[in-house]
Amino acid sequence: QSLTDDVDPGAATMPLPQSDERRWSDTSAYARKKILQSWVQLPTGNWELGKILSTSGEESVISLPEGKVMKVLSEILVPANPDILDGVDDLMQLSYLNEPSVLYNLNYRYNQDMIYTKAGPVLVAVNPFKEVPLYGNRYIEEYRKKSNESPHVYAIADTAIREMIRDEVNQSIIISGESGAGKTETAKIAMQYLAALGGGSGIEYEILKTNPILEAFGNAKTLRNDNSSRFGKLIEIHFSESGKISGAQVQTFLLEKSRVVQCAQGERSYHIFYQLCAGASPVIREKLNLKSAHEYKYLGQSNCYSINGVDDAERFHSVKEALDIVHVSKEDQESVFAMLAAVLWLGNVSFTVIDNENHVEPVADESLSTVAKLIGCSINELKLSLSKRNMRVGKDTIVQKLTLPQAVDARDALAKSIYSFLFDWLVEQINKSLAVGKRRTGRSISILDIYGFESFDKNSFEQFCINYANERLQQHFNRHLFKLEQEEYIQDGIDWTRVDFEDNQDCLSLFEKKPLGLLSLLDEESTFPNGTDLTLANKLKQHLQSHSCFRGDREKLFTVVHYAGEVTYETTGFLEKNRDLLHLDSIQLLSSCSCHLPQAFASSMLIQSEKPVVGPLYKAGGADSQRLSVATKFKGQLFQLMQRLGNTTPHFIRCIKPNNVQSPGLYEQGLVLQQLRCCGVLEVVRISRSGFPTRMSHQKFARRYGFLLVENIADKDPLSVSVAILHQFNILPEMYQVGYTKLFFRTGQIGVLEDTRNRTL
Ligand code: ADP
Ligand code: MG
Repeated sequence: QSLTDDVDPGAATMPLPQSDERRWSDTSAYARKKILQSWVQLPTGNWELGKILSTSGEESVISLPEGKVMKVLSEILVPANPDILDGVDDLMQLSYLNEPSVLYNLNYRYNQDMIYTKAGPVLVAVNPFKEVPLYGNRYIEEYRKKSNESPHVYAIADTAIREMIRDEVNQSIIISGESGAGKTETAKIAMQYLAALGGGSGIEYEILKTNPILEAFGNAKTLRNDNSSRFGKLIEIHFSESGKISGAQVQTFLLEKSRVVQCAQGERSYHIFYQLCAGASPVIREKLNLKSAHEYKYLGQSNCYSINGVDDAERFHSVKEALDIVHVSKEDQESVFAMLAAVLWLGNVSFTVIDNENHVEPVADESLSTVAKLIGCSINELKLSLSKRNMRVGKDTIVQKLTLPQAVDARDALAKSIYSFLFDWLVEQINKSLAVGKRRTGRSISILDIYGFESFDKNSFEQFCINYANERLQQHFNRHLFKLEQEEYIQDGIDWTRVDFEDNQDCLSLFEKKPLGLLSLLDEESTFPNGTDLTLANKLKQHLQSHSCFRGDREKLFTVVHYAGEVTYETTGFLEKNRDLLHLDSIQLLSSCSCHLPQAFASSMLIQSEKPVVGPLYKAGGADSQRLSVATKFKGQLFQLMQRLGNTTPHFIRCIKPNNVQSPGLYEQGLVLQQLRCCGVLEVVRISRSGFPTRMSHQKFARRYGFLLVENIADKDPLSVSVAILHQFNILPEMYQVGYTKLFFRTGQIGVLEDTRNRTL
């Protein structure tokens, strides 16, 4: 689909003498006559604004800034809006709603530090990558009093509070966007506003302090963002009947565990590791046998230890303070640090070959003994669990010795599990501290900060899950917008059955259908001991080839047609990541430890194992241990999330990253456009186009355009005048609807009238 075909409702729906031919090229004939300014796409892909000087045949001559004059095919011109609409604060106000106009409008505002713009019901936020003077008490006060009407996160938060109280309905603020687009900052800004308005009990302070904790343990420096969240988060803030904050609950999704044991060049592992190494007191250092970050293999492999402008030691003290505030005791804090040190030391455990079959065992050095001490087991127990695996064959248990790759896997799996359980445990402590108690009479506002749609050169299991989640959220988004529209149409008595909304249900069923959907087939293959990434790919192709949203590619590749575009996934690692094995030996090791955190981890692991399972995922020795696959667990979380969100009035914020170098003032059109498409901003536009987004009361319409009528009927009632105008301008019946109080138009219709009006005035 070309750029202009996709979103150029303005031109595409303009009335033409021959109404059966309404393609863009024809309307450009119209544009030639009537439109003075137009967008031209340069070979770079960027759009430039030009003035149409003349048109002959198929070609137009257009003058661009800096005196350039170009001859172009008229059909590639896209109408631009009159200057008076420069920088409107709602994209819906644009007469011509097309991609270059939207890009230009956001850029125009961005250059003036107006980073927020509405796209109908959605707030678009363009990351400034610098401090902008838009926050703090003065602004909070302005939005509270409604004396400032520019689009803002504060305005969204304010609406949420008001609607919660007015309608007695829970609210949600759903923030999306790609990595580095500003979701987490936006979530914090929203929390800041809620805390300011609903504060008083002191609990709001605790709620704000969950941010530095979760960021220390769940964020890391990546190539895209120095402070990238590696998990999704929903925070539900509860309000009492009097509108004061009474507590909160945090739920997290899909922490990226693999980062603990490996990360790419120039990236870092989780902040807390570096903070601990840099900031721990001498007493703690001594107790945990803590070294500098450089001495740990897990931290050393990516060659990146620090972040520009960030003092890890200082951050460590803030995290400790925050832990104090959410009532994590000093003893527990020390245990947390011990687990972190254990993970780091585990990475340093090395192996040596012990027989002529290449079996290995851990080297009995400082790392091994330190890990044993930190988690509270004997060196021998640790050594055994890292060199042998109990396997069940029939009724017998056999002991398998491990080769080097197997032993390294066992070690890394243990490190990842300890870390992810530590993360979950912390979230649990935070929730205990913020709990509302049994008397939950009030209402809540939830803020969702979750990774947006991802499409890289190589897409793996993580992207698969993330994009699946985004399909679900997109459906929620579509349905909500549809509902809003529908309500207004019904209220004004118009025929809403003529409004088509595209749904992404097809793609969702591709994922969710049982037994032949992506998730079921993935789980099934994960239970087969002989399943490999290739057999998985083949199975998908065999069963899903005919699905409209699926395409099998060569070898391990398959493509899904997502709402935001096609993504090709590579099945390498899918099964392993989905199974997420932790051998029973490791669970047994942790449960036998004398320290309370490892014990708690082990028991929570065993509880998880007892939950109902969809399919037996793996059987480890000793006892049958069944766990949910990662994808199934995620799907469950997602369903629960959608159910929760389904009972709320949603408010959507779409964050946009204007450049890939995290620098202020740089606005790359191509990059912004791609995100506008992916995060559904253009989707809103498209949805609106399929409805009747422009509304004007009969009175206003008659007053505004009545003087253009050839026949003088100014004394007639507004409805008659309006109808006469519609006829005179040959506006096609499918382009408008007449409601009880208002006229409803498809996009672009008013633009024509406005142009004529401006020329006449
Ligand atoms: P995401 O969560 O979408 O990955 P973040 O919220 O972490 O992105 O934002 C990335 C960086 O962008 C932040 O660390 C901050 O430097 C900058 N940033 C984002 N939003 C703002 C804002 N509103 N004002 C100033 N800087 C911002
Ligand atoms: Mg984030």
